[in-house]
Amino acid sequence: MELREQGLERVLRLPAGIDFASNDYLGLGRHPEILGALEARVAAARESGEAWAAPASRLLRGTTEAHLALEKRLALFKGQEAALLFSSGYQANVGLLTALLGPNDRAISDAQNHASLIDGLRLSGCQKVVVPHLDLAAFARALEVSHTAGRTVVLVESLYSMDGDIAPLRELADLCATLGADLIVDDAHATGVFGDDRGSGLVEALGVERRVAAVVTTFGKALASGGACVSGSRALIDYLVTRSRAFLFSTAQPPFALWAVEAALDRLAAEPELRVRVRQLADRLRAGLRSLGVDTLRSAGPIVPLVLGENRRVLQVAEALQDRGFDVRAVRPPTVAPGTARLRISIHAERTDREVDALVAAIGQVLAAPPVDSPMPAEASGT
Ligand code: PMP
Repeated sequence: MELREQGLERVLRLPAGIDFASNDYLGLGRHPEILGALEARVAAARESGEAWAAPASRLLRGTTEAHLALEKRLALFKGQEAALLFSSGYQANVGLLTALLGPNDRAISDAQNHASLIDGLRLSGCQKVVVPHLDLAAFARALEVSHTAGRTVVLVESLYSMDGDIAPLRELADLCATLGADLIVDDAHATGVFGDDRGSGLVEALGVERRVAAVVTTFGKALASGGACVSGSRALIDYLVTRSRAFLFSTAQPPFALWAVEAALDRLAAEPELRVRVRQLADRLRAGLRSLGVDTLRSAGPIVPLVLGENRRVLQVAEALQDRGFDVRAVRPPTVAPGTARLRISIHAERTDREVDALVAAIGQVLAAPPVDSPMPAEASGT
């Protein structure tokens, strides 16, 4: 009850209205070519007897040709030596950080890093220095403090999930090289959207593939599936196979899920225009919001934040937009810092210019209406 009064209660709700909330940035979740590829794969398995499931951990009977083939492909896709599958991005981050870091090690971590990165650091027991969001000078100052007891890692997302802004990966890689640290990048939201050659993300787009110690890629966003991988050197991946508890003690992903990732990767290669389109549409939305006097922070990709501050206000605005047919969700603490509750608008390649313009117009109307002193909306779901 108290949570509801503070606007912090969460409720589950089915999608309704035009999607401005999911992470299916390229609209692959309903792509007919992917459905066709899955049908063909199922038919082939029926012929060959290949199993669609692998109910065992990878080190028992859970490693199949589909796992090894996708890992090989993901390594190439990310421009790195090797890759290892995990069942989710959350597990990949926890599995990577707990395997790599211990109490003697130090992590320099951006203040807005995702909960899975925070939890990975907590579980690892390492020393943690949290620096203000994307403040390069603060990263440099933290790195200049000598740490000889163990390794130092710098931990960032490439495209931030709530502010939608981009980490200066080249500059961070330079700092790490000069000051003896390893750069770890969570490329979850940039994968599929950035990278003109392969569409593999900002690590590719900013050309730092060979300058990062590890990259986390998730499949539950632009790849419209689920699961994740860590990519990096062969030595890193071999080490994770032996030492990452989140990898060792969890069931392998079913090959069925991996076929969907393969089909999505095929689409990225076949339809580079999707990533161009989604970025254009996001720029259109940002321009529209700016014309209303709305600050979209430093967002630069498919995630456009509209910070409203107070929980009640953001829930009311989200509800009003949902009533007008737009699926826009509220994001509140602890997902974002207290006082920065917001709408997190995400854009998809399948949206039309008209739909984006209609959303801008609706936001203009809703923001212009005087706030009402109504009870806390309970139904306007969000994170
Ligand atoms: N990293 C980031 C930056 C994320 O935003 C998310 C999920 N939203 C994850 C990791 C976790 O990925 P998954 O949903 O596959 O567990």
